[in-house]
Amino acid sequence: LIEDTKLIVTSNTRLNKRLETANYDLGTLQLQLEHQRSAALTDPLTGLANRRAFDQTLAATTENAVADSLPLCLLMIDIDHFKVVNDTHGHVIGDKVLRYIAGVLRESVRGEDLVARYGGEEFAVVLLNTTSEGAKHVAEKIRSRIADRPLKQVNTGIAIGQVTVSLGLALFKKGETPEQFIERADRGLYTAKDQGRN
Ligand code: GH3
Ligand code: MG
Ligand code: MG
Repeated sequence: LIEDTKLIVTSNTRLNKRLETANYDLGTLQLQLEHQRSAALTDPLTGLANRRAFDQTLAATTENAVADSLPLCLLMIDIDHFKVVNDTHGHVIGDKVLRYIAGVLRESVRGEDLVARYGGEEFAVVLLNTTSEGAKHVAEKIRSRIADRPLKQVNTGIAIGQVTVSLGLALFKKGETPEQFIERADRGLYTAKDQGRN
């Protein structure tokens, strides 16, 4: 009996060790999964929400706005003549300007709002519980913060000069699809481009 008990204890200890290892592996896998999940929703250049995250969030957000009867606004933002920045200073500096603009956008909205990189040099901002008056105020703040601060290359001191953005704004209409909502904000953006940008 003593011998048998000893055997059982040894095998239990071994089993425990294996369980511990399995638990550790599971924990590591869980962390990796969370990391991958967040990477799949993040734009690597700017750290903003990417297009996938934007599409997912916008769908949920418009539904919530209807359910809660709260106003919801969308800004579509495009950097003016960005091709010139790239052509003059190169893509590395172009990328830095994109990161800078992303930072300005993040600093200009509330924590619960969504700032996303919509495409190359285009951004989208979803303003929760915000009327068109409030959104206009945010849009103007973004426009002026960017336009009023001429940029220069940190290392060389070479001037990049004034960078400007154009913005379009839409207030969500009950019953429209997220695509229609985006389209209306986009139309505003192209009107801004047509009427002189900035
Ligand atoms: P507009 O005022 O009409 O918007 O003019 P634009 O030059 O900004 O527009 P256009 O669509 O002609 O050019 C967009 C430029 O954005 C061209 C492309 O090289 C640049 N771009 C897009 N994505 C990136 C990026 O990730 N990094 C850099 N450096 N440039 C990018
Ligand atoms: Mg564009
Ligand atoms: Mg542009």
